[in-house]
Amino acid sequence: MSRYTDANCKLCRREGQKLFLKGERCYSSKCAIERRNYAPGQHGQARKKQSDYGLQLREKQKAKRFYGMQETQFRNLFDKAAQKQGKTGENLLILLETRLDNVIFRLGFAASRKEARQLVTHGHFTINGKKANIPSMEVKAGDVIKVKEKSASSPKFKEIKEMSITVPSWMTVDVDKLEGKVVAMPRREDIDTPIAEHLIVELYSK
Ligand code: SF4
Repeated sequence: MSRYTDANCKLCRREGQKLFLKGERCYSSKCAIERRNYAPGQHGQARKKQSDYGLQLREKQKAKRFYGMQETQFRNLFDKAAQKQGKTGENLLILLETRLDNVIFRLGFAASRKEARQLVTHGHFTINGKKANIPSMEVKAGDVIKVKEKSASSPKFKEIKEMSITVPSWMTVDVDKLEGKVVAMPRREDIDTPIAEHLIVELYSK
């Protein structure tokens, strides 16, 4: 019998839902959530009643894991969201979505956010013709994200040219040119990540 010892899959099992951390595997029957949708560990199958704090904490952990962020980074982004006008929770989600690594993933140039982060740090992309190798860079409406010419001939990106890619409404993609554009900043309703952001706001407001 196969065992799920992979750390990424354990994170999904802990949250009780797919976080799409492993690219193609996440869409296959090999996905751990498809086969063992309960928390890892000895007491993983025990039913637990969660406190309000527990729910808020789980939601924050889930959001962090979805976007592959560390606690300090996530907290800093929350503080930035709180300083902006409008609803903090929505601002937070928009900031998460417009990180360069997430945008690369959404454009279909990487199979997971983790891979996107790796491709970004390896320097495969430009934003508006300028080097963009920091995964946390914030993209803005009008930005053009492109695979560098030197990288475009690699097997990875050649393969992408053969793919049909669907992107969220706030961006466009031209796979032949290996280029994407942020046509508008995402609104809350454009973001399909299953996160109840008000729980995160409640948690950090304590
Ligand atoms: Fe593993 Fe991906 Fe399934 Fe999560 S969604 S359990 S990372 S295969």
